[in-house]
Amino acid sequence: MQDPEQIKYLKSLGIQLWVPRDYSGSESLAEVQTSVAVEGESSTGQEEPRPQPIKLSGDIAEMNWDDLQQAVLGCTSCGLHVERTQAVFGTGNRDASLMVIGEAPGADEDIQGEPFVGRAGQLLDQMLQAIDCPRSSVYIANIVKCRPPNNRNPQPEEALQCAPYLHRQIALIQPRVILAAGKVAAQNLLQSDLPVGNMRGSHYRYAALDIPVIVTYHPAYLLRSPKEKAKSWQDLKLVRSYLE
Ligand code: SF4
Repeated sequence: MQDPEQIKYLKSLGIQLWVPRDYSGSESLAEVQTSVAVEGESSTGQEEPRPQPIKLSGDIAEMNWDDLQQAVLGCTSCGLHVERTQAVFGTGNRDASLMVIGEAPGADEDIQGEPFVGRAGQLLDQMLQAIDCPRSSVYIANIVKCRPPNNRNPQPEEALQCAPYLHRQIALIQPRVILAAGKVAAQNLLQSDLPVGNMRGSHYRYAALDIPVIVTYHPAYLLRSPKEKAKSWQDLKLVRSYLE
């Protein structure tokens, strides 16, 4: 069932409402699943970079949720801890089928201790609602847990230091699909330097845990470039195909 928020979002994109029976037509679910089974192959048949498994520190790899959260909240492993108000661990359903991963906390997130709040968070909520996934049903986290100064992108070494925490979260949740929102998330999860525009529409896997990854634009970018929202809808439909 589509609720008013979902209909509002889809109408704002100027696109037809999603209905499940579309998948019994020419673009069947079976066809979708066949195409996504190929690791690192794009929908255009072009070779994609092969992601590399992450090596975990032994302690973090064994942590339960409580220990992991305490470790993150007290972490000083990289320089981002110096200016943070608090580390932003992640939030949502720990049994989620869908995990959304963004780049880093911004000013609002740093203050509130929750990822994807403010206008970008509201847009993400609408995007999720459009595929019948309310925010409460998904798990949301970032590549790094602490806010980079002046909202700059995380440095590669900062993302590397923080990666074991995110990896452990993914391992505990075991989502059916990951939505990588924005360049920082996509490039770090998939060990790629391709721009988001080139990664969208392809079927990747988070190799360390063999979990499908779909790449889309970050909601903050969509707020600045609303004409790209229609493309994000194509990405969301791919996500939905994994959740069926
Ligand atoms: Fe630790 Fe990650 Fe925060 Fe760096 S960003 S201090 S690695 S929790």
